[in-house]
Amino acid sequence: MQTFLNTVNGQSVASSKTFDSLNPATGEVIARIASSSRDEVDAAIAAAKTAQPAWAALTDAERRAFLHKIADTIKAHAEPLAQWVTREQGKPLGGDGRGSVPGSRFELIGCEAWTRATASIDMPVEVAFESEQRRDEVHRQPYGVVAAIAPWNWPLMIAIWQIVPSLRAGNTVVIKPSEYTSACSLELFRLIAEVLPPGVLNTVSGFGEVGGWLVDDARVGKIMFTGSASTGSRVAAAAAVHLTPTTLELGGNDAAIVLPDADPEAIAMGLFWGAFLNMGQTCACAKRLYVPDSLHDRIVGELAKLATAMPMGDGMMPGVVMGPIQNRMQFEKVVKLVEAARAAGATIVCGGRPQAGPGNFYPLTLVTDVDDGNPLVDEEQFGPVLPIIRYTDVEDAIARANRLDVGLGASVWSRDLTQARAVAMRLQAGTVWINQHGTIHPLVPFGGSKRSGWGVEFGVEGLKSVTRPHVISIQK
Ligand code: NAD
Repeated sequence: MQTFLNTVNGQSVASSKTFDSLNPATGEVIARIASSSRDEVDAAIAAAKTAQPAWAALTDAERRAFLHKIADTIKAHAEPLAQWVTREQGKPLGGDGRGSVPGSRFELIGCEAWTRATASIDMPVEVAFESEQRRDEVHRQPYGVVAAIAPWNWPLMIAIWQIVPSLRAGNTVVIKPSEYTSACSLELFRLIAEVLPPGVLNTVSGFGEVGGWLVDDARVGKIMFTGSASTGSRVAAAAAVHLTPTTLELGGNDAAIVLPDADPEAIAMGLFWGAFLNMGQTCACAKRLYVPDSLHDRIVGELAKLATAMPMGDGMMPGVVMGPIQNRMQFEKVVKLVEAARAAGATIVCGGRPQAGPGNFYPLTLVTDVDDGNPLVDEEQFGPVLPIIRYTDVEDAIARANRLDVGLGASVWSRDLTQARAVAMRLQAGTVWINQHGTIHPLVPFGGSKRSGWGVEFGVEGLKSVTRPHVISIQK
């Protein structure tokens, strides 16, 4: 069985301990992963620190060219990487990546596209003030070493969102993948490191403790963390010790509000994928659906048709559209939330019972007759379950959407864009989509409000977040 190693200063490094990586469709051990010691984390940060000045001294055009080399290597190795993602993360391989199944091949196409888009962004020097006497220019400088920590749901794509802008801006990186998806991640990082100068991209691996060592280090100039709010607050506490600037991309509980003029048949597919992309294991999935009384039954009917028609199984098998839940912890959470809703008198329209046999298979589940205050509505389920909540008055729906302490995304569905925009303007979320949900773009800033995070990724704003302003003030 293959053991996946870390890359430090351009070299593969073995660790004295390893841990297992499991296939969520079968429960089988598929790989062994090096478990970094504290000394190995220290060495990775040291390598990044040493390599950073020469990397920052390259011209922007040279770093952009390196980004295209990274994109080329992702493209060249996309198929074996996609197979590792499916075996380890669980999402289906999917058609050709442009087809209707947003699976592992789609994730690899996203990695390449994000890398090239990040290379394309211009970040000119800004002139903040100019008069006859003075000129004030705002340049951007890298922070130095970026410590990145990734989750398991889109393991390669999210890592790319952390690594690529950081490198483009002149930082070097030490990244830790999730302990649940380290094989596919370490393989991608190894391939990227091969096309970069030694020390520019370094990796460590292991459980939360290893992430804790990585962020508790004064040599780290910037932290990029994507994961749950509870871990995010621990990371922020560690960052506070060293006053390390930190981007936090945390969980959400996105509300989708259907307005009374919407056409249920026309919006059903968009709502479905908005809720069930990657089995609902996506930070910006619709996790609470508010529908007017007048459309309730038609919307539930349309969604149930789709939910019961999607083939579920081992993502390596052709024709599979939905895979397993990625890990047992998440699986148990979904089971518990659905049982709590059932016990409170909710109706389980479809799904609602785990599948027997090996693997973390849980069917797509629609739940009605459930209300705000129920844990299935109030907590981030992060799985293949959608609570559908009736409303009578749009004002009430807006208030319910805004009542939680998280605000990553939200959406409004209507034939009337003016009315939809008016509602969107009042929703407390980093992004509000109209007639779509979760459709992110590499040039459009993305981040959470309230307890969904600090800062944004993507586009010019994302590049700015991995740099600090450096003002040159000239007396003429
Ligand atoms: P998690 O918080 O359990 O783990 C994330 C990472 O943090 C892992 O690599 C883990 O090993 C590491 N970690 C754990 N304890 C740590 C510590 N004390 N110090 C430093 N690192 C530590 O999250 P998860 O279960 O992997 O991911 C799911 C969560 O991520 C969901 O809440 C989801 O909404 C959120 N998410 C947010 C975004 C976004 O862009 N806002 C994107 C994807 C996922």
